[in-house]
Amino acid sequence: MTVHFPFQNSYAALPANFFARVAPTPVEKPRLIKLNRPLALHLGLDPDQLDTSEGAEILAGKTLPDGADPIAMAYAGHQFGHFVPQLGDGRAILLGEVIDKDGVRRDIQLKGSGPTPFSRRGDGRAALGPVLREYIVSEAMAAMGIPTTRSLAAVITGEPVMRETALPGAVLTRVAASHIRVGTFQYFAARGDTEAVQRLADHVIERHYPHLKAAERPYPALLTAVIGRQAELVARWLLIGFIHGVMNTDNTSISGETIDYGPCAFMDAYNPATVFSSIDEYGRYAYANQPRIALWNLTRFAECLLPLLSDDQDKAVAEAQDLLGAFGEAFNDAYKAGLRKKLGLFTERDDDQLLAQALLDTMAAAGADFTLTFRRLSDAAGRGDNAEVRALFEEPAAFDEWAVRWRARLGEEPQSAEERRAAMRTVNPAFIPRNHRIEAVIQAAVWNDDYAPFEELLAVLARPFEDQPQFAAYADPPKPEERVCQTFCGT
Ligand code: AMP
Ligand code: MG
Repeated sequence: MTVHFPFQNSYAALPANFFARVAPTPVEKPRLIKLNRPLALHLGLDPDQLDTSEGAEILAGKTLPDGADPIAMAYAGHQFGHFVPQLGDGRAILLGEVIDKDGVRRDIQLKGSGPTPFSRRGDGRAALGPVLREYIVSEAMAAMGIPTTRSLAAVITGEPVMRETALPGAVLTRVAASHIRVGTFQYFAARGDTEAVQRLADHVIERHYPHLKAAERPYPALLTAVIGRQAELVARWLLIGFIHGVMNTDNTSISGETIDYGPCAFMDAYNPATVFSSIDEYGRYAYANQPRIALWNLTRFAECLLPLLSDDQDKAVAEAQDLLGAFGEAFNDAYKAGLRKKLGLFTERDDDQLLAQALLDTMAAAGADFTLTFRRLSDAAGRGDNAEVRALFEEPAAFDEWAVRWRARLGEEPQSAEERRAAMRTVNPAFIPRNHRIEAVIQAAVWNDDYAPFEELLAVLARPFEDQPQFAAYADPPKPEERVCQTFCGT
């Protein structure tokens, strides 16, 4: 049996300086540890074919499927504010693109499949822990309806990778609308290659924003569209307590998907200053800083497009600034609308934002769990008593005061309590990938070759908005001794 991938590659047909042609490096004894069957079907792949030893060899990069045109993409990027003119896929190889069941072109990429011309000092490999983390978190994000890259498979390579200690090596098969980043534009802009910038912009419009082809001036329209998607994306992150951790421009996807799950994490106790990443010393990528950083990254994107906006640089800069000015409002609109939904409000009033902020302030002061507070608030809205949510606040006086205001506001709307509860439960998840759970999954897999906890966590997170009484413990915040305070880069 031959595993069939219906590849239709477009990026590999771009000029040769967009990438390096390079094959994955074969590994010793690949073993498939997870296959995302529903996603495989959606991509037009046969999960039964993939779930074979030949499938494992392909997903580990040991065998190339027919029609693959493996490349490592070139990109640059600002890392923690510092520009690096050449990064590129140092441990990822794009096998090719397929058209999914919705007619959307999707990249199929192996991450951890060996060195490329962009590896610099890296080994081109990935350790099992970060592969499992990315698998879990990206699939959880997808289940919550947040734009994200997906995980098709995880294999262990049978070879160790050297980090602080020897760890099992693994390869993640990542699926993305594309892997084009702000950093991809920066790569060409930094080289003064305007022709390539334009070529890339045209490719992006064709692929991600086809409606702009008809625009009178497609490039400013592209900037506006990318700004809009990033504003919406970051608002959605904040609304579920997600912290990306490394919002470098090379980790900012032009399609508006969440990409590159490294030291990412979900907040437990609400604190807007939360930082998890061990390498984020100054809190540049703290939870509440994310909108500001997204705008900073978009400004770098706009700089790349300047030569396409006008031959007159002053004019181009003025237009870019004008367009970037829309980010704030786009973000605020999305964030405020999301908060209203989290509170169960169907209508819009001027002081809703104050009401929401007052709750967040009370949560911050009490260190209340972000996810649980909103989930329990949903049920409180259905019942008329606040006991369960109130119990999350050690000194509930401030919460009680707030709840009176909230109830009064709800009383101004005609919806029934049950209707409100149902609506709130579709935006306030019960289950998020909590750090301590991810850590436990990784420990079991890495040290005991035990994937049962991984499977169970994935199953729970696939239905984040449903009560799953038998898995109720997965909704709990960590006990003090379980708390994970730091996460580490995916390298
Ligand atoms: P990241 O922090 O994963 O976004 O990666 C930043 C850059 O480092 C990218 O160019 C990666 O391809 C590269 N990189 C990360 N880990 C490795 C590795 N183990 N081997 C080679 N390159 C790597
Ligand atoms: Mg990256």
